[in-house]
Amino acid sequence: MKFEDYRISDEIKKSLEKLNFKKPTDIQFKAISPIMRGEDVLAIAQTGTGKTAAFAIPVLDRLQFSKNRKRGDGIKCVVMVPTRELALQITDVFNEIGRGTRVSTFCVFGGVEQGPQIAKLQDGIDVLVATPGRLFDLVSQGHIQLHRVEVLILDEADHMLDLGFIHDIRQLITKLPRQRQTLFFSATINEKIKELAYSLVNKPVRIQVSPKDPVAKNVDHSVMYVGMDDKRYFLERVVKENPDKKILVFVRTKVRAERVLKAMERVGVESMTIHGDKEQKDRNDAMKKFRKGEVKLLIATDVSARGIDIPSVEYVVNYDLPEQPENYVHRVGRTGRGTEKGIAVSFCAPEEKPILDEIQTYLTKDVKVLEVDKDDYEATIDFSTDAKYDWRTLIKEAEEEEKLGRKVKKKKKK
Ligand code: ADP
Ligand code: MG
Repeated sequence: MKFEDYRISDEIKKSLEKLNFKKPTDIQFKAISPIMRGEDVLAIAQTGTGKTAAFAIPVLDRLQFSKNRKRGDGIKCVVMVPTRELALQITDVFNEIGRGTRVSTFCVFGGVEQGPQIAKLQDGIDVLVATPGRLFDLVSQGHIQLHRVEVLILDEADHMLDLGFIHDIRQLITKLPRQRQTLFFSATINEKIKELAYSLVNKPVRIQVSPKDPVAKNVDHSVMYVGMDDKRYFLERVVKENPDKKILVFVRTKVRAERVLKAMERVGVESMTIHGDKEQKDRNDAMKKFRKGEVKLLIATDVSARGIDIPSVEYVVNYDLPEQPENYVHRVGRTGRGTEKGIAVSFCAPEEKPILDEIQTYLTKDVKVLEVDKDDYEATIDFSTDAKYDWRTLIKEAEEEEKLGRKVKKKKKK
């Protein structure tokens, strides 16, 4: 079935055509109709399979023709997301698909002044995309009315219902009308969170797509055993062997992100970092430059693991393994989006083996191992620009010079 055969508005069809979306992806095919019928939906589908449009299309269609279209009435749909970047991205998708529908979408998130956000809210909007903290603050201060909300969407739902967010989410839900549609979307979910999700909705929830292999089929992923201190040489090698490719690197902490940036700087590789300690302006700048390909290497913490859709990221490197096994799926899912193919490689140090085991248990299968033989391993370190200043190389150079010296002496004797 093509989008043109759907019973959605001409305006939306036109936008989809402009975006070059011809036919629905699997999850869109399965989720759009029940959402249009007003059912609650719990949708699990792999990363990069178009979950955003799967909820944006039917919701925009509904709001475009809603009888309570008067904007002054209040917000009609709330989309909750875990990060600021994801809030911006989803707002863009609503605005692109909703162009010509007069449904207006806006987002609020923390880390920036709330004044301009409040001013925009006063103009009246239909769809609000938000991170829970800021939404909660604005609701508490009376700047946001939620009594007209018809649809609540939790994107990255398992994460939103997890420890860090569940308190805010529960508080917010108490402010929403009981009669509403609730949609949960994610690439991963466990039984406990599923139960919790069910407990938050009035009607039974439909599970749409539940892949056996949570890793997207377009991602070729493998693991490489690398000593903790050698990881930078292997990253340098990946970067230098793929000079034209956009590479997204995940590290365990903010401090490590900065450290890897410095290590790359030393070997003449330009990169940027994105993590929770950076100003929002700098986070946006890094995203923008990476999106455009002006910077080819972006070093991130798990703050960028979920939901972010950047075209033509061809490589994901797990410089450190993620501590939460499901984040493995989300991180490697930043490549291989839509119809693109992607490569993901994880550097596993001996001390990280237990984490790898946990990930493999979670995936219910082993991750393919990229064998590096001893010579290749040594060569990777030796070829590094940085290694020129490394003791190993210095000793080697000294030995070489000594040999050379001996040869010269021998020649002289003759
Ligand atoms: P998910 O949320 O499942 O990880 P996204 O909603 O971010 O995936 O979409 C992934 C990519 O697929 C985006 O770049 C989006 O533009 C593209 N996409 C979504 N739906 C379609 C479609 N029907 N046809 C072509 N491309 C699509
Ligand atoms: Mg998504």
